[in-house]
Amino acid sequence: MTQPWHPYNSLPARPTPLSLSHTDQHHLVLTDGTRLLDGIASWWTCIFGYNRPELVQAVQQQAASLSHVMFAGLSHPPAEALAQRLAALLPATPSVFFSDSGSVAVEVALKMARQYWQAMGRPDKKRFMALKNGYHGDTWGAMGVSDPDSLHQQFRDASEQTLFAPAPLYGFTSVDDQDDIIAIEALFKTHHQQLAAIILEPIWQGAGAMNFYRPAFLLAIRQLCDEYHVLLIVDEIATGFGKTGKLFAYQHAPIQPDIICLGKALTGGMMTLAATCTTTSISDAISRHPPYRFMHGPTYMANPLACAAANASLQLLDKIDWQSCVLQWQAEIHSALRPLALLQGVNSVRVLGHIGVIELETPALAAAVQPIALSLGIWLRPFGAWVYLTPAYTMPAKERTTLLSATVLAVTQACGQGLSAIPESI
Ligand code: PMP
Repeated sequence: MTQPWHPYNSLPARPTPLSLSHTDQHHLVLTDGTRLLDGIASWWTCIFGYNRPELVQAVQQQAASLSHVMFAGLSHPPAEALAQRLAALLPATPSVFFSDSGSVAVEVALKMARQYWQAMGRPDKKRFMALKNGYHGDTWGAMGVSDPDSLHQQFRDASEQTLFAPAPLYGFTSVDDQDDIIAIEALFKTHHQQLAAIILEPIWQGAGAMNFYRPAFLLAIRQLCDEYHVLLIVDEIATGFGKTGKLFAYQHAPIQPDIICLGKALTGGMMTLAATCTTTSISDAISRHPPYRFMHGPTYMANPLACAAANASLQLLDKIDWQSCVLQWQAEIHSALRPLALLQGVNSVRVLGHIGVIELETPALAAAVQPIALSLGIWLRPFGAWVYLTPAYTMPAKERTTLLSATVLAVTQACGQGLSAIPESI
């Protein structure tokens, strides 16, 4: 039977993917009836779990009246309402451009920055700076600003023109990365005449590092951008909508980005949608200079179903008191996972918001965690040497305890530390 290709996999996929029947709130239900408690909320999109009635109803109602229409020459209330909602959340960047996925939102951001400098009579400002360990997506331009040493070694030429600055390595609370800033300032000084923008993931470098860094680093980058006239693009695709304890991770620092990319949890995991938000001075500059328009226009731009899901998701985010949920997760993940740092085989444990990362000594050790987790009824998806948790904000207390206990047990067993370290609660 013909199988579809799976992400970052061969065809047919290895190992064979689990066959899913349906989802049930915070569980994945396999075709053989096995129920798995989901620890990563489908790559941190489904922040309210699955089958959330408010989101299901919003999409069903929208489908009954207007499921899709081209966005060129036509507009509709779901997109208009969503643009307004996002502008209210991000008042300094109220010009919203919708697209289909996170990677495309990044492409749009890069093009916006280039077109802005063309409009300003500086077509020479067309290069980008990015951070080592950064990850911004899998399309060609997004790969071009992602660290080629992480996921995209086969496509190094995509990033030939990109300047890579040192990654901030010292954690969320450190005060110690002044050397990195000095190195980055040197890059700004030498290259600012050609630089359109720097792009970074604020506070949490996700797929390329699973590492948190301190807000002062963001502030220092913003100051360099101001001094050297370089735009700051903040990729909030992974971090947006509360993941790190702030609604947007850049808000840990007293800064305003010039361009913000949103995706993933924007629709509460109902369907794919992304947005690139910018300042009115950038949208005005692009709109008032030849060619008097922004040159991008996806076929499914602002799809009404996706916009309806996002509107319902943002309403729900307000309603559930996401901040308390995320801070509660932070405390619980911290106290459950911290002791793992003492295990042989574990390099470090890092926690911020609802994100918990266990860095193991080798990818093989991390991979060994997954079958143990499955046997304990939880769904984890280790990546590289990292086992990580990014659970739904809304998981009830009993399931939270199960998830954390089983994660601790799976890591402990994979590290060969025997059963003595099993927490009581499992
Ligand atoms: N930027 C970041 C920070 C991401 O984490 C991701 C996805 N993992 C992307 C961009 C790309 O998003 P998508 O997979 O929706 O294209």
